[in-house]
Amino acid sequence: MPNSTDILIIGAGPSGLFAGFKAGQLGLSAQIIDSLPHPGGQLVELYPYKTISDIPGIPCIEAKGLVTKLMQQIEPYNIPMHLGERVETMSFHSDKSFELQTSAGSQLICRAIILAAGLGSFNPRKPDLPGIQHYENRGVEYAIRDIEKYRNKNLVIAGGGDSALDWSIQLSEIACTLSLVHRRSDFRGNPATASSVRQLAANGKLQLLLNANVTGLGGRDVLEYVEIQFPDRSFKLDCDFFLPLFGLSPKLGPISTWGFEMDKGCIRVNPTTCQTNFQGIYSIGDLCSYDGKLKFILSGFQEAAIAMHAAYAYLNEGRQAKIRYTTD
Ligand SMILES: Cc1cc2nc3c(=O)[nH]c(=O)nc-3n(C[C@H](O)[C@H](O)[C@H](O)COP(=O)(O)OP(=O)(O)OC[C@H]3O[C@@H](n4cnc5c(N)ncnc54)[C@H](O)[C@@H]3O)c2cc1C
Repeated sequence: MPNSTDILIIGAGPSGLFAGFKAGQLGLSAQIIDSLPHPGGQLVELYPYKTISDIPGIPCIEAKGLVTKLMQQIEPYNIPMHLGERVETMSFHSDKSFELQTSAGSQLICRAIILAAGLGSFNPRKPDLPGIQHYENRGVEYAIRDIEKYRNKNLVIAGGGDSALDWSIQLSEIACTLSLVHRRSDFRGNPATASSVRQLAANGKLQLLLNANVTGLGGRDVLEYVEIQFPDRSFKLDCDFFLPLFGLSPKLGPISTWGFEMDKGCIRVNPTTCQTNFQGIYSIGDLCSYDGKLKFILSGFQEAAIAMHAAYAYLNEGRQAKIRYTTD
């Protein structure tokens, strides 16, 4: 039997979780689906231990701690979550309802959809190194999930963006040695974070190998060293782990074929409602695009509120939801 609900939220990142909260607050039934086996989106998958300092009222919190708080906030509404299921297809019914099928074979019927699918499925950009597949999970890793694994180990990180810089700072506190390899002399990531990395290098907490590339990997069974290539010399650097943090190649997957008006991989919405070019389908968070869009967690929260109020009116013949404070 298909499962039915007022609103189906695709994505359990911060935007999708807060959308679930707003649905509960407005008295709409909702369900959340995520292809990952856990809620939290990028915060848990990409940077669980990174500190977030730009959530109003919370000066400083670990990313996974923020997800725990979002889960606590949503808990009173008992919103069912389908985790580890990717939404594959969507079809329109003549009574204006939508039917979604997931990779696990679930069939879900709803009257409105909130797309909070962020960057889509997470696929790391992998360096093109001979034999790299052999060393995957034997010393080569593309995401940091359990920070304790790296305590007192020799680490080589490659990359020049936020992820490589953030992790270099955090892991330098627990690693035995840490080398950051970057093919340029300047970093793409946040300038303040880059200057902290340079400061750590000046203090001997990590080694910066700039204008250099990792060109080879070696070791009998598990990774034992990487080959570093400078323009004029090369050498082998012993290590336990090589972490190429070159970001994600965004793969929105099936959603991109559903006929939405797209803008650089994101779904174009009307910012006053977050509605897409289909009535009853809204897009929020990193996945939505409008003039002036900022890809911050806090923007996703605001868009969740806008979309849920618009969906409420759509589901209730244009009647606006009363603005309710949580004290009500
Ligand atoms: C290294 C790094 C540091 C950052 N630091 C900050 C910071 O300090 N402050 C800040 O405000 N922002 C920060 N950001 C940005 C922030 O993480 C994003 O803006 C935020 O995660 C967007 O939330 P979201 O819920 O829209 O999407 P996401 O967090 O991407 O979640 C989307 C979810 O949708 C799921 N999904 C996708 N497609 C499907 C499908 N077909 N079926 C089912 N599920 C699907 C995914 O599995 C994922 O869980 C940072 C980003 C990075 C990469």
